[in-house]
Amino acid sequence: MIKLDTIISLAKRRGFVFQSSEIYGGLNGCWDYGQLGVEMLLRLKNQWWKAMTYRDDIEGVDASILMHPRTWEASGHLAQFSDPMIDNKTSKARFRADNLIEEFIDRMKKKGKSQLATEIENQLVEAKQPADYLKIILDNLIPDPVSGTNDWTEVRNFNLMFKTFIGPAEDSSAVVYLRPESAQGIFVNFKNILESSRQRVPFGIAQIGKAFRNEINTKNFLFRTREFEQMEMQYFIKPGSELDWFEYWKEQRVNWYKNLGMKEENLKFHVHEKLAHYANHAVDIEFLFPFGWGEIEGIHSRTNFDLSAHQQFSGKKMEYVDNITNERYVPYVIETSGGVSRSFMAFLCAAYDEEEISEDGEKSEKRTVLHLSPKLAPMTVAVFPLVNKDGMPEFAEKIYQDLQTEFKAMYDTSGAIGRRYRRQDEIGTPFCVTIDGTSIEDDTVTIRDRDSMKQERISADSLKNYIKLRV
Ligand code: ATP
Repeated sequence: MIKLDTIISLAKRRGFVFQSSEIYGGLNGCWDYGQLGVEMLLRLKNQWWKAMTYRDDIEGVDASILMHPRTWEASGHLAQFSDPMIDNKTSKARFRADNLIEEFIDRMKKKGKSQLATEIENQLVEAKQPADYLKIILDNLIPDPVSGTNDWTEVRNFNLMFKTFIGPAEDSSAVVYLRPESAQGIFVNFKNILESSRQRVPFGIAQIGKAFRNEINTKNFLFRTREFEQMEMQYFIKPGSELDWFEYWKEQRVNWYKNLGMKEENLKFHVHEKLAHYANHAVDIEFLFPFGWGEIEGIHSRTNFDLSAHQQFSGKKMEYVDNITNERYVPYVIETSGGVSRSFMAFLCAAYDEEEISEDGEKSEKRTVLHLSPKLAPMTVAVFPLVNKDGMPEFAEKIYQDLQTEFKAMYDTSGAIGRRYRRQDEIGTPFCVTIDGTSIEDDTVTIRDRDSMKQERISADSLKNYIKLRV
């Protein structure tokens, strides 16, 4: 199993991800995408956008991050979007109480104490109030992982929304929040899109955008951050049809990850026993990260909780009138809610490999390779002149300029050809094109496949089509 540190160090070394404001020591829970990261992030979002909106029944939207504060009263976020927080008095370490308990359960399972683990698991499902979490921690003598003591404070609820002010006056009437999820931007636009498009229920609205949560503990690189991006889709349906649509979207979404190269054995569904206040069915798609299974996307059956709440708080009708059957109802919703940055990291982990190889008859060596889908790889093709003379650089430069009009491409002349391949393998470039002596004579090039390392000689004219067919 690869280590998370290996991924973090590759990400930094090759320009995928840097710590935010690193020169000032970094800002906890915030990350920046470098020159390769931003390319891969764009491709990931583009794949999602195509899969979700290039179809008859889904429209896109891009809502603003700051929304009317009543939105968060209606959605329940002001009252309920909080996590139970606990501090250890000895170490001063702060934890999410539910996570502290979950980690204890995992440790018990690993020690073979499965009965105790199940008992605590059942108590956790029932826990609602801060006192419930504290009772579990104290009754089971759950220790602080840092100091080992049981010297705990009370459990308090901590609201995760970032607050700021709109306009110059910093008083309560000016408070606005950075959205903690992109979904509400979709709900408040339900009527706008219904009326300005030609959609009828069932139909969906999709959005990609930033969300902010003042998480108690940020950890595991991009897994839990304070600023992140979501890709969310709300599918509006007739009440009563939610189970069928829930199953449909579960399959669609897990297949999306598989089609982009994730292996079946690294993905699983986790059915929620404990449901959020808005949901009547919920399942997570989990990926096997280096630190264990973790959610990458949630699929929730949200009933008509949100639209009804917005109808009540805004006084605006959120009903749908079926002009064929004359039925009138507030639609139910199936939501697919994925994290862009979390799945970015999952795709990096899924692609990472260290292999013993022997290429071009050379002696065997180790290579680090990202087996990224060509649809996600930040660099699509690299072009190399075999040597820097005999007309090869001029020929190669021409090919590179031409490829660059359609693909993200790079040109590399430095070092032995094997080293140039290794540099591309490490960032997941699916194709390397080499220009050699034969190229000059007959207008052909060799193209090497990253995964099989096999080379094919093809005519320079057909290069663009060759790559296009495979991306
Ligand atoms: P968790 O239980 O891990 O806090 P959640 O159930 O609150 O997550 P949702 O509200 O369902 O998560 O958010 C949908 C998706 O948004 C998640 O599947 C995840 O991919 C992403 N996401 C949520 N919180 C974060 C975060 N703090 N950092 C990065 N991605 C996040």
